[in-house]
Parts: sequence; C-alpha cells; structure tokens
Amino acid sequence: MTELAGFSGTVLTPGQDGYDDARRLWNAQHDRRPAVIAQVRSAADVAIAVRYGVENGLEIAVRGGSHSISGASSVDDGLMIDLTSLNGVSVDAEARLARVGGGALLRDLDGATQEHGLAVPAGVISHTGVGGLTLGGGMGWLTRKYGLSIDNLESVQLVSADGSILRAAEDENPDLFWGVRGGGGNFGVVTEFEFRLHEAGPMVHYGLQFWTVDQGAEVLRLARDLFATLPTDVNVVITALNAPPAPFVPEEMHFAPGYGLVIVGFGSPEEHAGVLEQIRTALPPIFEFATPMPYVALQQSLDEPNAWGHYSYEKGSYLEELTDGAIEVITQQVAQKVSPMSATLIYRLDKAYSGVDDDATAFGGERSDRFALFIVGHTAVPELLAAEQQWVRGFWEALQPHTVGIGSYVNGMTESDDDRIKASYGPKYERLQQIKAKYDPDNVFHRNQNIKPA
Ligand code: FAD
Repeated sequence: MTELAGFSGTVLTPGQDGYDDARRLWNAQHDRRPAVIAQVRSAADVAIAVRYGVENGLEIAVRGGSHSISGASSVDDGLMIDLTSLNGVSVDAEARLARVGGGALLRDLDGATQEHGLAVPAGVISHTGVGGLTLGGGMGWLTRKYGLSIDNLESVQLVSADGSILRAAEDENPDLFWGVRGGGGNFGVVTEFEFRLHEAGPMVHYGLQFWTVDQGAEVLRLARDLFATLPTDVNVVITALNAPPAPFVPEEMHFAPGYGLVIVGFGSPEEHAGVLEQIRTALPPIFEFATPMPYVALQQSLDEPNAWGHYSYEKGSYLEELTDGAIEVITQQVAQKVSPMSATLIYRLDKAYSGVDDDATAFGGERSDRFALFIVGHTAVPELLAAEQQWVRGFWEALQPHTVGIGSYVNGMTESDDDRIKASYGPKYERLQQIKAKYDPDNVFHRNQNIKPA
C-alpha cells in the first residue's frame, strides 16, 4: 500500500492502541473494523487520506460526530477518515459569523457562539456532529425562528473525490454550495463550515408538560391547534416517551409511558408563561416543570437519555397536518412499543423554515408548513432491538396513508433505501445527480443517503 506521505494526523490500524476507541460509533449496533483509520488534523490531511483511499481501492467512510443511526461513518476493511480533531470554532461576533471545523460537535459550536450571546440553529442534542447534521439540513429549537442549519450557511471548504480543496459559496462553485445544503456527504468531505449567527440566549425559558398515555389523542389535537397561535419565539416539540425518574416527576409516574410537550421560549418570560398557561387551561397536565436555563444547558438537557452505547433504529415521515386519522394511528402505535427507551418525536417545521424557497437549497423535503415525525426504537441491550425494529417498521407502515409519501428527513433514515432517498429529494434528485457526477463521478463518497452520479 502507498503510504500516507505528508499526513500530519494519526494513522491507526487493527490492534494498535486507540483503534477500538476510534472505531466506536454512537449506535452500538454497528461494530465495524476499518483497515485504516486516518485521524486528520487539517484539510490537507483529508486530501491525502482521500487520495490514499482511492489509490488503494479502499471503501471510504467519513466520520463526523458518528451519530448516523445507520453507522455510515465507519466501514469494515476500508478507510475511516476521522474528523474528530477538526473541531475548532472561531467566532467573529461583530460580523456575526462562525467558522466551524467539519468534525465539531454541537456542544463545541454552542459553547463558542454563546460566549457572545449568539447561536446557529442546529439540533437538540449536544453530542451530535455539526457535519452530518448540517449537510442533511439540521433542525432544532431555533428552526421556527431562524430556519434550518443550512439556511444559515455562508460557505464551506470541501475536499472532493480527487483530493482537491474547494470553497463553495453563492459566488464560488454555486452548484456545489446548493448541493451541500441538504445533499449530505455525497460531494466530498467538508473541512470547514461558515455560519451566520443570530442572537439567542444566553438564558432561555424551558417548560415540560406531561400527560398519561391514555390522553395521547387529546394532547396531539391540542398541539396541532397550538401552532396556529404560537409566537415564533417559542418552539414546541411533541414527544411520546416514558417519564424520567426526575425530582419534579411524581413517583407513581416514574418510567410511565405518556405524552410530553417540551416548550422552549427565546422571547420574554411572560410570553413563555402565557403559552404554558394556554396549554394548562386547555388540558391540565399530570405534572409540569418550568425554569429559565442557559441556552447551552438546554442544548445538553437531552444528552444523557441519548448517550452513546445504546442500540437504535429509526424511521421518519413528513406530515402536512396532524389529522384525526394520523392521531388515531399514532396513539394506537405508541401504545405498542416494547422498550421503555423508545420514543416518538414530532418537530414543527413552519415560519422561518417555510420562508425559504423550495429550490434555494437541496434540502430533502418541501418548504411548506409540516411536521417531521421520528419513530425511534432504542434499547439498552442488543437482544431487544429486533422487537423495536418491528415496532418502528409497523408504525411507519400504518402511518403511510397520512404522510406526505415515503420520503422523509434524510438524516433520520437508518437504511439507505434508494426509493425513499429519491422521494425525499423529489424533483431535486436529478440536479443532485448532475452535481454528484461533476464532483464525485465514481461515487467515492457513498456511505451516506447516496445520490447516484448521473
Ligand atoms: P456521522 O455518522 O459522523 O455522519 C453522518 C453522515 O454525514 C455520514 O454519511 C458521514 O460520512 C457524513 N459526514 C459527517 N460529517 C461530514 C463532513 N464534515 N463532511 C462530509 N460528510 C460528513 N438531526 C437534526 O436535524 N436535529 C436533531 O435534533 C437531531 N438530533 C439527533 C439526536 C441523536 C441522538 C441522533 C443519533 C441523531 C440526531 N439527529 C438530529 C440526526 C443527525 O442529524 C444525523 O444522525 C447526522 O447524520 C449526524 O451527524 P454526525 O456528524 O454526528 O454523524
């Protein structure tokens, strides 16, 4: 094999110290053994690693935060390009811009930007990678207010399949810039993201209201109606999950299945309290918890139940409306999960999300108001995962008559199913294929929601 001449990072092969740690992925279901792990320190290292992989006929996997449920970021017998050390974040508070390494985690991004009271809209769990999350879209608490992560991207630096280091922005390689905003890791390895920043925090308002599993239909109908009057400064995620054994949860409700609304306010305390009161009046919760908290604490509040080392399987859908029919299916299916760790999450996509033109980015999903629903099977031991997979698949099938189609948010796909990927991108798929053919004609980067080169 050719050496990685000029490489400044660390190269690990099976049996070496650090190899087993480096190959570990968030979803413990995947136990992959790359032939080589190239832990890069710079864009030049990435270029060397990509050329090395191609010249030696090694299948390439790119590891950002390693949270793809499919385990796309590692590969048996191939080359894992590990971006973990490319996690620097520099903030220009005056220009409201941040430069973020391709391997940074959300917590790196939030920590650095919050020093200036600024933020990038991203996901809700701080150990997720900025890389994979952004390239597929990126949705979270700030999506109603400021759009998806990609809607706030100014430029990227990317290493393409031939090892070239390129910049993509509106004024340079605009086709590539369009493609990376939603097209995943298909076009190359992003070594740096440049984001526009917004004011958020440092303190935000948190609220959790919780109901029993029997009240599901009422909670979902209430949530559906709530969004029509909800201020843009407030976001609500609908969840069906088991109550945590937290101090604010009555003991008889510890671990009990139920429905929760998580209500996060970026505006005034009065506005947030008003939304909580509106919900409380419509349907008094079994218990509730409300407190101001720092934005960085909000971003870490779900980290622990979603920690590394569990077994996961997920499928998602878009719904234009939470119709009575959809609510009937959701409540029937939620009651059938087996693992207490499994959950159903519904994110609202409207306001700033819907203010972006469909064709402005490659995002897999139309920009009309909608819900993104995720059915997550999650277990502590591998033996239980098969039952949860069956539950997730059955739930997803049963919901089909009420969804936008078989497409969904590409970052929530466990399997790389060509028909679902095409359905998610819709008419944009052909344009993505042209861009793929230009920047990666041999499909070097295929461990992702793969777009086949035209
Ligand atoms: P990885 O597995 O490292 O990468 C995912 C894919 O992107 C792989 O194909 C990889 O090759 C590629 N990739 C990663 N970095 C780069 C890069 N720099 N250049 C090129 N390709 C790259 N999504 C949301 O939008 N909002 C959420 O709130 C949210 N919460 C989540 C919580 C958990 C616990 C989990 C597991 C996932 C969550 N997701 C969320 C989904 C998440 O966006 C995807 O799992 C995403 O793929 C994770 O990116 P990563 O870099 O951590 O993963």
